[in-house]
Amino acid sequence: MQIDYPLKLKNIQMHYSWGNKSELQRLFDIAPENNLPQAELWIGAHPKAPSTAELDDGNLITLDKLIASHTENIMGVKDKEFPFLFKLLSANTPLSIQVHPDKHQAAEGFNRENRKEIPMDASYRNYKDANHKPEMIYAVTPFKAMCGFRPIHEIKEYLNILIDEGIDIPSYLIGSWSPEKELRLLFAWMLSMTEQECTEMIDKVLPLTQKYKRVEAFNTVALLHYYYPFDSAVLSPFWLNIIHLSPGEAMFIDVGCPHAYLNGTGIEVMASSDNVLRGGLTKKHIDVFELHNIVRFDTVNVTKINPIPSLNNDMLIFPAPVDDFCFMLLTIKNNWHRKAGAMHTLFCMEGKITVTGKGVSVLLKKGKSCLLPAACEAEINGHGKLAVTGVGNISDNIDAFKSMQA
Ligand SMILES: [Zn+2]
Repeated sequence: MQIDYPLKLKNIQMHYSWGNKSELQRLFDIAPENNLPQAELWIGAHPKAPSTAELDDGNLITLDKLIASHTENIMGVKDKEFPFLFKLLSANTPLSIQVHPDKHQAAEGFNRENRKEIPMDASYRNYKDANHKPEMIYAVTPFKAMCGFRPIHEIKEYLNILIDEGIDIPSYLIGSWSPEKELRLLFAWMLSMTEQECTEMIDKVLPLTQKYKRVEAFNTVALLHYYYPFDSAVLSPFWLNIIHLSPGEAMFIDVGCPHAYLNGTGIEVMASSDNVLRGGLTKKHIDVFELHNIVRFDTVNVTKINPIPSLNNDMLIFPAPVDDFCFMLLTIKNNWHRKAGAMHTLFCMEGKITVTGKGVSVLLKKGKSCLLPAACEAEINGHGKLAVTGVGNISDNIDAFKSMQA
């Protein structure tokens, strides 16, 4: 059986409590399930929630199984691993602060926890697989997040305000250390507070969020405190950059970079991995020791977080410095041809688009998706906007799509 035609996909929703209940329906006509929050919708072959593909005989099969039996047809290579995960994500309330490992750390951590026979679903298990997890978020609505450490001079400004206001900041935190040591000490201090220290600290800082309510960092502290009243990481807006993405803007989050999504709906594309270490704003397990190994204690220039998209015909390409995924937006107003050779997933953001290959046609309305196997030559017609995710370098992905405009 050759799999050389477009495969309609059915994808799994994640109902995490922080999810928005109506945005995915409003934006993409994706119906809620049992009135539960629609936090995420996963498109990919991750074993935790693989998409289901519809074959030309109407049979359904999960993508991980289909790839295992038709690897070269679908992937174009003998590699059985589906390299990325595409998520719609809609946050109503702030998520935890997270950090993801690099490949070496993930492989080492995964093996170590396997050797210790830590069950995969244990609350204190850090590594669910051996892969790294760089990620990119593309904002569909205004999207607020924290990402990467602020420049040291900004952090010092906030520490000095807190000290001037009579807050007990340990004197070692304002020494003349290297930026790396400065950030390490700060992080360790924040995560090692006892419950009593934390309560006392927050009781003193909270009135300041009124006094300085025009300052975004203080404002964000108040917001985080509303959702996580007993968590010392509500102080993190003083040392993490606060990012606002407008619809159509994206942010690349490298491994080792602490980040938290606060509010908004977006498309998140990442290496296919579920490796998350949490660093606050959570009731879940925090492994402070491992966190200190994974976090990159360097400051992030906000201007470097946002990849600048480039336009090629009607294709907008968001560069990411990894091979695991390549993210593009394709405006369809004339016919396009996708040549065989590599695999892509297509997610319809707007309009009505027909994808045809080997006599099989898949109609994509907004919120619907399909997979184009590597073996498939496809014609794409209609009007609308497609979010296209592929593998490998940008130029190969650009070359795969050709506008057939006369
Ligand atoms: Zn993340």
